[in-house]
Amino acid sequence: MLHLGQSIINIKGMGPKTAEVFESHGIRTVEDLLYFFPRAWMNASTVVPIAELRFGMGTLIEVQVAALKEGMSQRTRIPYLRATVADSSGYIDVMWFHAKYLRGKVRVGTKLLLYGQMQGFRQQDRVMMSPKILKEPCIQPVYPTIGGLPSYKSRPIIEQLKDVVETIPDYLPDSIRLEHSLLPLNQTLKSMHFPADITHINLARLRLGFDELLMLMVPSLVAKAERDQERTESLTLDSGKVKTWCDALPFSLTEDQQQVIAEILQDLGKTKPMNRLLQGDVGTGKTVVGLAAALQAILAGKQVAWLAPTELLAKQHFETAKKLFAGHAVGIWTRTHHLLSDGGEDKKVSVEEVTQLPLVIGTHALLSDKVLFRDLGLLIIDEQHRFGVKQRAQLRLFGGHPVHLLSMTATPIPRTMALLLYGDLSLSVIKQKPAGRKEIVTRVVTDASRDKAYQFIDEQIAKGGQVYVVCPLIEPAKDDEANMFTQLFEPIEEKKAVTTWATELQQHFPDRAVAILHGKMKAADKDRVMQSFRSGETDILVSTTVIEVGVDVPNANIMIIEGAERFGLAQLHQLRGRVGRGERQSFCLLFPSSEEKSESERLKIMEQTNDGFVLAEKDLELRGPGELTGLSQSGIPPLRFASLQNTEQVQKVQSIAVELLANPAFKQSLERFWRQHHPE
Ligand code: ADP
Ligand code: MG
Repeated sequence: MLHLGQSIINIKGMGPKTAEVFESHGIRTVEDLLYFFPRAWMNASTVVPIAELRFGMGTLIEVQVAALKEGMSQRTRIPYLRATVADSSGYIDVMWFHAKYLRGKVRVGTKLLLYGQMQGFRQQDRVMMSPKILKEPCIQPVYPTIGGLPSYKSRPIIEQLKDVVETIPDYLPDSIRLEHSLLPLNQTLKSMHFPADITHINLARLRLGFDELLMLMVPSLVAKAERDQERTESLTLDSGKVKTWCDALPFSLTEDQQQVIAEILQDLGKTKPMNRLLQGDVGTGKTVVGLAAALQAILAGKQVAWLAPTELLAKQHFETAKKLFAGHAVGIWTRTHHLLSDGGEDKKVSVEEVTQLPLVIGTHALLSDKVLFRDLGLLIIDEQHRFGVKQRAQLRLFGGHPVHLLSMTATPIPRTMALLLYGDLSLSVIKQKPAGRKEIVTRVVTDASRDKAYQFIDEQIAKGGQVYVVCPLIEPAKDDEANMFTQLFEPIEEKKAVTTWATELQQHFPDRAVAILHGKMKAADKDRVMQSFRSGETDILVSTTVIEVGVDVPNANIMIIEGAERFGLAQLHQLRGRVGRGERQSFCLLFPSSEEKSESERLKIMEQTNDGFVLAEKDLELRGPGELTGLSQSGIPPLRFASLQNTEQVQKVQSIAVELLANPAFKQSLERFWRQHHPE
């Protein structure tokens, strides 16, 4: 008999060519082949009376041949066999082409079990084309065609696995399996390939969905277990100093901010490295929380590295830190900025010098230039979802030893996703916006109302407001969301798009100062443009999504997004978050690229809510997990059987995973299963 670990070449009917096709799809062993699942099933399990046939649905009929005719199609010259077949409820014509092989098999009076689809436009044209002749009612798996290997060729091979499938071990102990009404693994795989009925297929899919979720969680849970063993230095100090600093800020912190700062300070006081993710909607004031954490580390004599995904953002943080951290030297290290501030004018700084500073803000340049810190104690990653999985792993080892890690993100991740992705993280959430903020009013505006909208904008500028315009690219930018090199590689058309749009706007607003910002500009030019917008010299800033991440100009109160339906909810929300940061009433105007696009459900939702978490849930519902901003690079593969929408289910699976990993015996079989599904 076959066994699971054997090469597929040992299976009866498997030739070297076919084996090669499977192998090129990662299917090497008998066990691998058991995980080559049907894409559908032909349900020929129940006979249906002819009178109840419906168009376009595969159905099984049990009939007797009443009349036969052989012929040749006029147009295509293909020979055919046409039979009129009947049961007690009615009759229908069936047709086979090139059907010589049926001669003798199909005669008047022959009883047949046929599976096929009824076609034809009118009652009298009804016909079943090329039905399959079956021996008995059955459910037949239909396998995906791979490397030109069709289902009818792979099916008989897989049929050879009927016995060996029984021997597949289950990593899931019976007790847990029974408690959660899950099929054993052998029955699951059997039901997928050789189903007795449709119910069994559905049960099997449930079990496979369970396994799929569990497998997604294992890495982060194992990482957590490993991390629990790590040790670093505790950064304790009289936390009163941080409090004094907080009290001296130009605003009073929200309760959520205070709460999160307290959580972080507590973590920093432990020898177990902190690994905390701070989620807070745009504008909730995460930067100052990060600075409070940095201060604690600095006062404890350690160095802090602060990573931002873009030059623009790094520069902005540098300016903020300079302002709020008087008395401590602050450095910035990016592709184009190598500066140090210690009170007076900014000075150029060398790589050796920068490694000695208490706080260094930088981009990926910190990594690529191998800036080796003297004594790193805390790493802060801003907008962490913009960094790829690999980069994040690299960052963790940044200090050469485990350090405290604070990640921040404005992408509200639905709870289920957070459980899956960040099972190994502690989670802090800032929900409150600073006091005095007004809700942003969002409206979808069609071209018919464009003039009216422009008039409104002009009035707002007259009252001292400022405007962002995000314009569509001529060619959509490559979607490398989580790639921190986004800025460097945006398409060349970007400049043209922005310039054209700005010229047009200038004609509409002859008295207003219009400026442009795009990814192709030199860092110094970007700085200059941002500076002039921040100071109020510029009224209208035309840009691409460069301004999506983190940019903070409290006086700006209008956000215009052109071609709005092209953006995902999360991104629209990010863009909208650039306004509503000051006392002024803010507006977000969404211009769809055409009239009918204004019906877009996404845009309607934007009008209805300002809550990033609600939007993230909606995005998950509308577009599935793969499309969520920042999660495309999260390493989550497309799910075949599980759904992430079912929070309860995800939670249940997670608690089971924790239970399994805690028991050495279960852990071992789980790890075996994991390796089976993640070779190399
Ligand atoms: P984000 O969470 O999007 O990173 P920022 O940290 O950029 O938000 O903060 C947005 C703006 O709100 C900044 O101008 C910041 O100075 C200001 N801010 C932060 N906290 C408060 C607060 N408690 N009260 C008033 N303004 C605040
Ligand atoms: Mg921010």
